[in-house]
Amino acid sequence: MFESLIKRQKIQKTLQKNIWAKTSELEELQLQKFRVILNHAYQNVPYYHRLFRSAGLKPEDIKSYKDISKIPITTRKDLRDPKNDVIANNIKLKNCMKCKTSGSTGVPLELTCTVEDGLYAWASYERVRRVNGYNPSHDKFLILKSAKQKSNNEKYAVKYIKKLHGKLSDQNTSLIYLTEPIHNQIELLKTINPDVIWGYPSAIKVLAKEVKERSIEKISPRLVFTASEVLTEECRNYITSVFNSEIYDVYGAWETGCMAWECSKHSGYHINMDTVLLEFIDESGESVCEGERGKVIATNLNAFGMPRIRYEVGDIAIPLKEECSCGMGGYLMKSVEGREDDFIKLPNNQIVSPRIVTVTIKNVPGVSEFQAIQEKKDTILVNIVKEQDFDESTIHKELARALHKVLGNELNIESQIVEDIIGDKSGKLRAVVSRI
Ligand SMILES: [Zn+2]
Repeated sequence: MFESLIKRQKIQKTLQKNIWAKTSELEELQLQKFRVILNHAYQNVPYYHRLFRSAGLKPEDIKSYKDISKIPITTRKDLRDPKNDVIANNIKLKNCMKCKTSGSTGVPLELTCTVEDGLYAWASYERVRRVNGYNPSHDKFLILKSAKQKSNNEKYAVKYIKKLHGKLSDQNTSLIYLTEPIHNQIELLKTINPDVIWGYPSAIKVLAKEVKERSIEKISPRLVFTASEVLTEECRNYITSVFNSEIYDVYGAWETGCMAWECSKHSGYHINMDTVLLEFIDESGESVCEGERGKVIATNLNAFGMPRIRYEVGDIAIPLKEECSCGMGGYLMKSVEGREDDFIKLPNNQIVSPRIVTVTIKNVPGVSEFQAIQEKKDTILVNIVKEQDFDESTIHKELARALHKVLGNELNIESQIVEDIIGDKSGKLRAVVSRI
């Protein structure tokens, strides 16, 4: 425990220092870290070894930014394919944490992370909070969490989270689980009366709506951080109008850690060039020009347990080859267009964050991929691609039980097993669709 606390402080200090580095220094550091992870993956991860060989490449062929595009892109599907050996064979698996991504696409992915991988991911977010004014020793910090993290190694998971967050900061940190009934969430919110809130924009909006409708006063966190979902202008304005707080949007994913974030200038998103290498490409795989929309391709520079190199995140964003006037180094990017899921509207008119639906479904045993569609006010239909060796009727039963628990019994839950989940017209996968 002590050892990892020291490690954590060291990583935090390094990342904190990097924030003031010049962009040219960050580029140098980024390329250097990219080469390290590339070498590691080539030497120790069979999937990447094969991928490199299939492209006739060796890590030493990647000398500059322009060489990077020679490396084939890896998708979520590639990393999910059991035939692909994607975990590094030089790490101790028993010391690793396994966690499932949020499932916001309807296609969750299980990641294997070393303690250091996890520390870097945590520090990449913690830096954003601190640089924007969060003080862990004074501020009451509230995290809206989708659900208790399910792990095949629960005991280790608890130890791992303690390692990440340390004991000192725990006393000021509270959690609200979104799977709790909204009334309980509001009661907790009133008790905690947080200075800082962190969570999905859709979940914070639901809270804000309740606060407004119940005319609850005095809930006015100084800082609100929204993450892991697209923050629409409408949502930003709504939360600001109810809480009267400044909102900082953060762009990140489980696979990548924090990728980019807003500072108080709000003139774009600072790219975390020291922890991730982002590319923005068009349909033919070419880098788009500054100011043009491109698919986000990310390389996590600190994922050694299960590397993610040139990983297709599934979002669209706009690179800006410009720096921010705040004085911190690195390039900016603009407007993330990701998956915009719909809110579910319950028969009693209460709205529910789509994240509650996705996190509930992804944890039902046997569900591999899914899409939930609200066709009518009182019915949700869930299409499921099931894992092999799972009984259909048990999946249907478990799914209905789990969703009734979080959405109430007034909704009919229907489900059917399908071969594939079909994307919308643009080909985007949406995990939660409402047609009412
Ligand atoms: Zn800035």
